[in-house]
Amino acid sequence: MLRRERIHISGIVQGVGFRPFVYRLAQQCGLAGFVRNNTEGVLIEVEGNAAGLQAFRHRLATEAPPRAHLVQLTLEEIPPAGESEFAIVASERDRPAQAFISPDLCLCADCRAELFDPANRRFHYPFINCTNCGPRYTIVRRIPYDRRNTSMSVFPLCAACAAEYHDPADRRFHAQPNACPVCGPRLWLCDRNGTQLAEAEAVEQAIAQLQQGAIVAVRGLGGFHLAVDARNQAAVRTLRQRKGRAEKPFAMMARNLAAIENFCHVSPAEQALLQQPARPIVLLPRRAPDQLAAAVAPNQKYFGFMLPYTPLHELLLQDHFDALVMTSGNFSEEPIAIGNQEALARLAALADFFLLHDREILQRCDDSIVRLAAGRPRLIRRSRGYVPEPVFIPRPTPRRVLACGGELKNTIALSRGNAVFLSQHIGDLDNPAAFSFFENSIAHLQDILEIVPELIAYDLHPEYLSTKWALQQEGLPRVGVQHHHAHLAAVMADNGVAEPTIGLILDGTGYGSDGTIWGGEVLLGTAASFERFAYLQPVAMPGGAAAIHQPWRMALSYLAATFGSNLGPLSLPFLQQLRSAAVEVVLQMIDKKINAPLTSSCGRLFDGVAALLGLHQEVSYEAQAAMALEMLADEAEPEFYPEAVRSAGAGAIPITPLIHAVVEDLQNGVAREKIAARFHHTLIEIFITAAGAARAATAINRVGLSGGVYQNAFFFHRMLERLQAEGFEVLTHQQVPTNDGGLALGQIVIAGAVAHQS
Ligand SMILES: [Zn+2]
Ligand SMILES: [Zn+2]
Ligand SMILES: [Zn+2]
Repeated sequence: MLRRERIHISGIVQGVGFRPFVYRLAQQCGLAGFVRNNTEGVLIEVEGNAAGLQAFRHRLATEAPPRAHLVQLTLEEIPPAGESEFAIVASERDRPAQAFISPDLCLCADCRAELFDPANRRFHYPFINCTNCGPRYTIVRRIPYDRRNTSMSVFPLCAACAAEYHDPADRRFHAQPNACPVCGPRLWLCDRNGTQLAEAEAVEQAIAQLQQGAIVAVRGLGGFHLAVDARNQAAVRTLRQRKGRAEKPFAMMARNLAAIENFCHVSPAEQALLQQPARPIVLLPRRAPDQLAAAVAPNQKYFGFMLPYTPLHELLLQDHFDALVMTSGNFSEEPIAIGNQEALARLAALADFFLLHDREILQRCDDSIVRLAAGRPRLIRRSRGYVPEPVFIPRPTPRRVLACGGELKNTIALSRGNAVFLSQHIGDLDNPAAFSFFENSIAHLQDILEIVPELIAYDLHPEYLSTKWALQQEGLPRVGVQHHHAHLAAVMADNGVAEPTIGLILDGTGYGSDGTIWGGEVLLGTAASFERFAYLQPVAMPGGAAAIHQPWRMALSYLAATFGSNLGPLSLPFLQQLRSAAVEVVLQMIDKKINAPLTSSCGRLFDGVAALLGLHQEVSYEAQAAMALEMLADEAEPEFYPEAVRSAGAGAIPITPLIHAVVEDLQNGVAREKIAARFHHTLIEIFITAAGAARAATAINRVGLSGGVYQNAFFFHRMLERLQAEGFEVLTHQQVPTNDGGLALGQIVIAGAVAHQS
């Protein structure tokens, strides 16, 4: 008997070869009907006998293309229509969009084989792609995801490409960015004045320049990279000077896995991370010694490596370089350049040559960064390859929320039901260009997701530019969210948990409910509310933000809190290195409470102790001193300072015993590596004790870890182990970063909870 079924599928089913897959499947199951993209995903109607329909349903779920991600499938039986054919029909466009757009995908194995096959018509063509690979999010102007709505709309398909595009049996059937040398985008090399030097030989000439130590700006998938030979110390140092980046490590791209293994230890799990379609930068423990330029990552135990993810990358690296530095195409902390003219204007002083193409990048998207810690991937930056895939939260937000994120490492987010769409990495908003990127991202994400927010969530910090922006949006209700509450809600949502949780939120700085600066917090709460159970004893931050850039100020503050303002008798090498006039000024600020806001920040404590140990009196990027302390810590040292843990519990946790113990060790000539490790262990024991007190007071056994401090792998790993040994259920970040890049997720959930109550 003939039956007909209508199947709605939502999820990532557009731009990943899903309709051709459905077409072939229907043919194989002997079914008639149609498939088409709609604003929610894909609509299928199939008609045939019961056995065919059953096989179709089963294989639909089990054999879907690798890049498809089915979120929801609903099925209803409808009257047969008497069709005899199966067809793919054009997209409808009549209702608000619910569709998901695929993130950008790395070059697939089939296309890679064709790229290096001299007999193939796309031999060495830098824009080869198919339904399994290529650009997606970065070329989308609006949905539904069709060629006319992407930056490929200006390239009419040639006859050969059109034939592939319309052939359901072809791998390029409805591949929206499909292209070839006849009809598609082109590549050329030019000098910094924009004068074209080569087209047919563009890649070869760029390689020759790189081999001679030149810096080449390469237009990629989500923006420009600045490329330089990673073995060439002089070239890498020139890049540092021009980019205004003193020491922050550069990311590298290696030709293949074997090349990376020459420089780093790569576990099987890390191999899988490197090879996933998102192709993130993976932080890997380096082998020493190596032949890479020392200036690539000064004083680091880790290298950031990624594999080639576009055909152009393959062509550049394949036969010529083990590794290229591929750092973001920008000066200092500005957003990366994406347009040809923009790059020539902004990067002229940075790059010697420009490898340009004419497939416009519509959405800037930095490389993502991930590391393996405690056996799982941990995102440090969630951007290209992940965005705009949603994070699903346990409880739908009753209203559509726009979350504005924080100030540093900003991302924004939009919610629709239980899907939260986080933006790509936007950056530090105190940079004017980053702030306009922030505004553009809000507008663009609203456009392509067709989400009109009904509620705005923002951080309580009155000086954050994201906060100021939120407060200027009139006509929409707004919810101010405490920074560390947002971190707690983020790690809960990241794990699908809504029940009360103890938050060990260890962070740089965030605005507290009492107007002081928080950051070493034991919170109790849910998305709806929280209380501050315990916190590190607040100390002065002499000079405010200056104390972030100059950790020696924090070190003085901790010393003054511990020993009073007469530090003369201490005879520490740290104090002898400082100018006594500067010391006097800072001690006065602390003493007289002039421009010395109080902070319970854990990140500042790391900074201060790093300075005490003589690591960094000043830093050129955020968390540099804290990272140096992590790198210094002796892996084999088991001791901690028991007297510093004794008074940990509810309320303010004294830190002066910890500083006292560190100073005593320094004066006794204990190795700095041991002191660094003891400091880590002591801090862990302090928070274990505080969490135990919170558990005793509330009977909550669940602990959530969030905040920038957990990027410290030494600390994170041991904290997790100790909590588990104490019988806690521990929530850690997996889908969003533990730093402020994940803040917007927490803001969404909290605003949703507020909306539920009202
Ligand atoms: Zn492909
Ligand atoms: Zn073509
Ligand atoms: Zn934070």
